[in-house]
Amino acid sequence: MAESIKKKIAIFGSTGSIGTQALEVINAYPDLFEVEILTAQTNDKLLVEQALKYNPNAVVIGDERKYETVKSALSSSGVKVFSGEAALEEVADFDTYDMMLAAIVGFAGLKPTLKAIENGKAVALANKETLVVAGDIVMQLALANRVPIIPVDSEHSAIFQCLVGETRNKIEKIILTASGGPFLGKKPNFLVNVKRHHALQHPNWNMGAKITVDSATLMNKGLEMIEAKWLFNLDPGQVEVIIHPQSIVHSMVQFEDGSVKAQMGLPDMKLPIQYALTFPQRVQNNNPRINFRKLDTLHFEEPDIKTFRNLSLATLALEKGGNLPCILNAANEIAVWAFLNNRIGFLDITAVVEKAMQKINYIEKPNLADYFESDGEARNFAASLIKM
Ligand code: NDP
Ligand code: MG
Repeated sequence: MAESIKKKIAIFGSTGSIGTQALEVINAYPDLFEVEILTAQTNDKLLVEQALKYNPNAVVIGDERKYETVKSALSSSGVKVFSGEAALEEVADFDTYDMMLAAIVGFAGLKPTLKAIENGKAVALANKETLVVAGDIVMQLALANRVPIIPVDSEHSAIFQCLVGETRNKIEKIILTASGGPFLGKKPNFLVNVKRHHALQHPNWNMGAKITVDSATLMNKGLEMIEAKWLFNLDPGQVEVIIHPQSIVHSMVQFEDGSVKAQMGLPDMKLPIQYALTFPQRVQNNNPRINFRKLDTLHFEEPDIKTFRNLSLATLALEKGGNLPCILNAANEIAVWAFLNNRIGFLDITAVVEKAMQKINYIEKPNLADYFESDGEARNFAASLIKM
């Protein structure tokens, strides 16, 4: 009897920072959740470990060279094993799960998420790039299929939580908080010498490599502005960014009467992950609480957009729309990859993105095929800049 009411979760990107924390949440509520699908790209060892522990219906290993290893490690478990990019869509099309946790990093998350929506499955969305690239198509499809898209990104979870009970009330603006990352207050003469290991040290959050670099360049906040526009149906002018180094206020909503609602919590992704999985309910946990008596400051300041120009580039993409956010995202993925591999400097990331935005043809009303084409063109162009 109890079996049938468990929510069956498909974790796409289960071996990543969000994926592993989601499994911790699921582990804490065995009566509420069951793991149905797990996917990884290259980390076969962890995927096998997770599969043996959670006994899902199916797993996908993206890297086809690792198929045999995963298959033989799970041969006596009854877990179905798939591999390759197309398999992600194939399992997203399964009928057997209730909710997809979209926790793949980057553009690679788009296709399986679209498939889950087409398949009528609820989506807990961590993969912000999906909305940055094709937010219009994703949200329209979700509306047409009556599929809820519940944000996992902490800022958007905060806004989502502030909006509960406010369906009929107009939002004046939303205020996205940004920690400022490890280089808050630094100027270009410092940033020019920054290396991979500096950028990977985030003061408040422990996350995957790509989003950690995006936080250091403030591109993460830029992507989040675009993500917010689509999630909450906002005009570009209604999205504001403020630096808040303590990461306690996760974001705010200002209503027409001037009232501002904020959602607060310690910086721990397990809360927004848990909320997305249990929404509309809240469930008890014993995670550490904020002690307001020990909290001496909550500080807010304007972002330094002259130094962190990614924020201006993202604002331009937000305002112009079309395929420009897709171009920005693709060039950024290539540039961050190159920076992580010590191929370009920290400030070059912005330069690569800017040049791609200037170079690739602008399309005002792209369809899905246009997005895929723009993504490919921007990647090739960004890669050509890096080789020089
Ligand atoms: P990680 O890099 O830690 O994990 C990414 C996951 O996706 C891994 O399971 C990885 O597999 C898999 N993956 C990587 N590339 C591909 C690919 N090409 N095709 C299929 N699967 C792939 O990232 P995070 O968990 O940090 O972030 C995931 C998403 O959530 C991102 O979009 C990020 O912006 C967003 N997010 C993350 C937050 C965080 O705190 N980490 C906070 C808010 C949002 P493998 O391990 O095998 O490489
Ligand atoms: Mg965030």
